[in-house]
Amino acid sequence: MLLKNKKIAIVGGGPGGLTLAKLLQLKGVDVKVYERDLNKNARVQGSPLDLHDESGLAALRKAGLLDDFKNNFMVGADQSTITNHKAEIFFSDHGQKQEGNFGDEHFRPEIDRGVLRKILLESLDPETIIWNSHFLSMTKQNEGWLLHFKNKESIYADIVIGADGANSKIRTFLTDIKPFYSGITMLEGNVYGAEKKVPNISEILRGGKIMAFGNKKDILMGQKANGEIGFYASFKTEENWATTCGINFSDKYEVLTWFKKEYPEWSSVWYELFENSSTPFIPRPIYCMPLDQTWKTVENITIIGDAAHLMPPFAGEGVNMAMLDALELSEALTSSQFNSIESAIAEYEMNMFKRASQMAQESLENGERMHSENALETMLDFFAGHKGE
Ligand SMILES: Cc1cc2nc3c(=O)[nH]c(=O)nc-3n(C[C@H](O)[C@H](O)[C@H](O)COP(=O)(O)OP(=O)(O)OC[C@H]3O[C@@H](n4cnc5c(N)ncnc54)[C@H](O)[C@@H]3O)c2cc1C
Repeated sequence: MLLKNKKIAIVGGGPGGLTLAKLLQLKGVDVKVYERDLNKNARVQGSPLDLHDESGLAALRKAGLLDDFKNNFMVGADQSTITNHKAEIFFSDHGQKQEGNFGDEHFRPEIDRGVLRKILLESLDPETIIWNSHFLSMTKQNEGWLLHFKNKESIYADIVIGADGANSKIRTFLTDIKPFYSGITMLEGNVYGAEKKVPNISEILRGGKIMAFGNKKDILMGQKANGEIGFYASFKTEENWATTCGINFSDKYEVLTWFKKEYPEWSSVWYELFENSSTPFIPRPIYCMPLDQTWKTVENITIIGDAAHLMPPFAGEGVNMAMLDALELSEALTSSQFNSIESAIAEYEMNMFKRASQMAQESLENGERMHSENALETMLDFFAGHKGE
């Protein structure tokens, strides 16, 4: 086996890095994950993630974790309601889908990001994750690399895999290609105890998702675990809007005033979200890697997930691609088909470039559709086309 007696360092313990660690461990590989979070209880931010049969779920199946997923996914959270800016409902698939339809390519069950992380963490051998390891840089040593961390001793690894997300430091050892701004910014808010605090919205949401479209602007939201709702005001603006708009994101009334001004035609039904959100709101300018990116394979470094191919969230593919990268890379590295680690990495990267580019393009196109003049009609057609497929 190519990885016999090799030390593998994965930098970053997000869904990509943890899935890879699990899949390699199942093949008996000596692998450690270096994660900057202080410990496993660090709060994992973000909305629930929907996993797809051919990618995220395929990786979990291979890792022997599908039953854990089935015991922990959020039943019904994948059901969607589409409204206009007045919160009038134009589409809902509540009650139309069969629950637990695993194996169907159109079934996209949702799981809380923190719960997914817990499942992956608990499946790993003890001491696999080295917490509080903020990677800074690395230098060549013998055949491999000496990794340097903030306030920590350096460690040696034969192979380094970057799973360190959108601002990956490992990526800089492979390429200087940078992501570009998609033209869209999402302002994130969260409401805890949503059923009581935002009753009108909760009635429309019904534990699923809402996509509201009007005048080239959107509100997107989804049910989270523990009765929480995560919502995003999503709109086209310049890249540095967050730093130039002058809004104090810790003041919900200032944010509400902004919403009323920037979403003038929108109904007051939406106001309760802003009035009851925890603060600060988080502005998220949305970036994408160039679709034609490539780099020359390096014999003992590669990257997976957002580090390799950051893309907008409008096709729900980011985490699925990260987990499929983990599956494909682990298979290449442990296959008997390749005569060197470099050729195994090259094969993984070639497929990854192609696949991620298609998904990034789809995500960009969805982003355009969802922020266009006739977004509501376009999205209704899109959903009608997918119904019953
Ligand atoms: C607003 C928004 C909504 C989204 N919604 C969806 C969705 O619905 N569906 C979907 O599929 N995707 C969605 N995504 C994208 C998804 O979150 C990512 O694609 C996914 O998390 C990528 O996983 P990853 O493991 O590659 O990276 P991450 O999840 O970013 O994990 C990277 C890990 O590396 C660690 N790390 C970073 N730097 C260092 C360092 N220097 N040293 C050590 N550790 C480090 C971090 O702490 C983190 O744990 C969304 C993204 C955004 C911004």
